[in-house]
Amino acid sequence: MSITANYLGMPLDISGLDTENLEYFRHCAAHEFHLQACAGCGLIRYPPTTACPWCAHPQSRWIAVEGKGTVHSYTEVHHAIQPAFKAHTPYLILLVDLDTQKGKPTAEEAVRVVGNLTTPDGALAPPEMVRKVGIGTRVRMVFSDVVPGLAIPQWTIDEAAAPGTPWRYPQE
Ligand SMILES: [Zn+2]
Repeated sequence: MSITANYLGMPLDISGLDTENLEYFRHCAAHEFHLQACAGCGLIRYPPTTACPWCAHPQSRWIAVEGKGTVHSYTEVHHAIQPAFKAHTPYLILLVDLDTQKGKPTAEEAVRVVGNLTTPDGALAPPEMVRKVGIGTRVRMVFSDVVPGLAIPQWTIDEAAAPGTPWRYPQE
């Protein structure tokens, strides 16, 4: 069964043939984060794919993964390319190193998951929240509900973590 929805003016379509993404988003709709673990080498991967990026084994199983991590890098968007995003600028696109499997299979690697910075209830973060976040910020996963059966995994500041001093691009 395919998924068709609209998020802030953008069509979101997942084909009925895309079994990996349908399974991934089925878990997200229940506000659960699951990734594929390789049946060969055991490593988890993101985004969902048909074969392991490290050993090419075609089999995998879905496992629950903790949605916690550290901002590896970010983009701060000031000029929205979609009209409905204009009201939310500036907004952040975060690339987050999951705590799970960090440093594997080599010391420099991590499972890095993309998402926007949002409030704990999944709305795009306001400017005062955007200014607090940079490389090194501890974040936790939350979900933005789009339609029944579809939610988008996002990131919000982990309130339980020490704020630290995240690195941000110099501001004008
Ligand atoms: Zn593998």
